[in-house]
Amino acid sequence: MGVAKIGGEKRKYSPFTLENVFGATVKSHKTINADSNSTNKTSSGWTKTTCAYCGVGCGVEAKVTANGKLDIRGDESHPANFGRLCSKGLALGDTVTTEGRLLVPSIDSQSTSWEQALTHVATSFNDIIAKHGPDAVAFYVSGQLLTEDYYVANKLMKGFIGSANIDTNSRLCMASTVVGHKRAFGEDCVPGNYEDLELADLVILTGSNLAWCHPVLYQRLKTAKEKRGTKVVVIDPRATSTCDIADLHLPLFPGSDIALFNGLLAYLSKRNQANREYIDQHTEGFDDALHQAKRFSTITSVALATGLKTADIETFYDWFRITPRTVTVFSQGVNQSTSGSDKVNSILNCHLATGRIGKPGSTPFSVTGQPNAMGGREVGGLANTLLRIWSLETKSTPR
Ligand code: SF4
Repeated sequence: MGVAKIGGEKRKYSPFTLENVFGATVKSHKTINADSNSTNKTSSGWTKTTCAYCGVGCGVEAKVTANGKLDIRGDESHPANFGRLCSKGLALGDTVTTEGRLLVPSIDSQSTSWEQALTHVATSFNDIIAKHGPDAVAFYVSGQLLTEDYYVANKLMKGFIGSANIDTNSRLCMASTVVGHKRAFGEDCVPGNYEDLELADLVILTGSNLAWCHPVLYQRLKTAKEKRGTKVVVIDPRATSTCDIADLHLPLFPGSDIALFNGLLAYLSKRNQANREYIDQHTEGFDDALHQAKRFSTITSVALATGLKTADIETFYDWFRITPRTVTVFSQGVNQSTSGSDKVNSILNCHLATGRIGKPGSTPFSVTGQPNAMGGREVGGLANTLLRIWSLETKSTPR
């Protein structure tokens, strides 16, 4: 499929230093624990920290009580949740316990010192590398680490051991979006933020059960809808809890998202809604993308491919056409598919064609599953990327 690309301006990169990568956050990063000496502690004894369960990244305040338990409350000053927490975050006091956790290093189920454990791991790695080369070892570093920790793990594998064998949970979770972003923008960047959900007049949730998977974002959207009448479209084969706030639910056939969004691109073009000025100045490949999309140039062809009612498709397309402030949220229902990258690009193309990107309340928006998937990606958390989302394969990438 043809893909529109943002073109033109060349990116300039600063020299490779830790400070350039993290800016002020390196200097201001504070250890998060319940220690009485913690610099994150407020005057009333609450320690500021983050819920590590999902990609919303809610700010939490925690306090150890006299009987050794943990009190938890939402951090009202945190920009992700403004004091809200979902049931998982609220239950952190019960789940953050030392019971059943590995508290000291252990080799063959025997407790040992940190020095012995580290020597054991290093020696084993060295032996394997000496015998079979650096590509004989690998790291898998999940989605829960802090960005700084991802950076160090990547530096160790790619800069010191000399192999690219390191992946974060982003491979499993949203490699499709990484590819879609790189094809459309030249790099893996998310162009929206949470505030856009509250500033939009139309929010399209596709492949996303926001009510369950990003509960606090769902609450923010629900509140915005109550305040300003935001229209919500849910595109999902299932009638999920998120449909409780939907003005329109489109239960399309699984895997037919590309037909729906290519049909939307063709519909917008037919009604002269393509933003020619934006397309000419900031994109390339639009005509090719449109040519491919025209396979679904009639509502009937989209209905046949998606199983949706023609009236519902028309309503959706018309709402998109008349609403400049549109946010399209996409998540794992789009990503985790054999055609996930093309699905992502079919969504991004509709936003690029109408110039609905980079403006308040107007953007495509990939929401992640795990807490710090984007942080990992920003410092090279995939086997084919380097930090700052430089590509490992590109010869011009600074090394
Ligand atoms: S929405 Fe996510 S980050 Fe926020 S409290 Fe719930 S699980 Fe934690």
